[in-house]
Amino acid sequence: SDFVSKASHELRTPLASIKAYIEMLLDGEASDEDSRQEFYSVIKSESDRLGRLIDNMLNLSRIEAGIVRPSYEEVDFANVAQSAVDIIQPQAAVKDISITFQRGPLACTAMADADMVKQVYLNLLSNAVKYTPEGGRVTLTIENDDATGSVLSTIADTGLGISPDDLDKVFDKFYRIDNYKRVAKGTGLGLPLVKQIVETVHHGDVRVTSTLGLGSKFIFTIPYEAEGV
Ligand code: ADP
Repeated sequence: SDFVSKASHELRTPLASIKAYIEMLLDGEASDEDSRQEFYSVIKSESDRLGRLIDNMLNLSRIEAGIVRPSYEEVDFANVAQSAVDIIQPQAAVKDISITFQRGPLACTAMADADMVKQVYLNLLSNAVKYTPEGGRVTLTIENDDATGSVLSTIADTGLGISPDDLDKVFDKFYRIDNYKRVAKGTGLGLPLVKQIVETVHHGDVRVTSTLGLGSKFIFTIPYEAEGV
């Protein structure tokens, strides 16, 4: 019920603004073409936001409810990560951010759901690019952590960083750091999805360390052998 009330609030905000702008248009409050265009573009971007919220909410709740069943196979993490890097690269290029992919000579494989793992890389890489100013650096590292028997991935950025107060909240549903809302579009559901995929689906672990103003490091591990497989 907490989720439902938060979700309704999140959905209502863009809807209210779409309604307000349409009413102003209907009332003829946009007298010239320029202001009409401005109103249309607010309506467009708020509808886009509604769409993103609904997509992310469905995605998360389907996985949480176990409707999307993971299909485990031997996954080569470097391959999956590379395909995520290829997708994020254009966004990084726009901001002149370099993405460096560091991988050792040994293959890093684990029993996992490749599509879900790719979603984890996509969310973490996309955040790293979103919350890093122009000219910054993003580094992705994949290694075998034999001590814990898992593949360990690190996504580090030289971006805005996260204050100690916010560190434990960024994995909460809909949580977004207030000051960063202007920096990038988002729903606050990307990291909860990451946590769900890593911890509930794969019995791994995800954590973050950060220094405000210097950057953040998200680390996740996926055990070599999936439980119950
Ligand atoms: P969003 O869709 O808003 O990016 P997420 O759940 O992915 O939602 O992240 C929650 C919040 O955590 C973000 O809104 C942002 O404030 C903060 N955050 C996430 N990743 C980073 C990062 N790499 N650097 C700084 N802040 C981050």
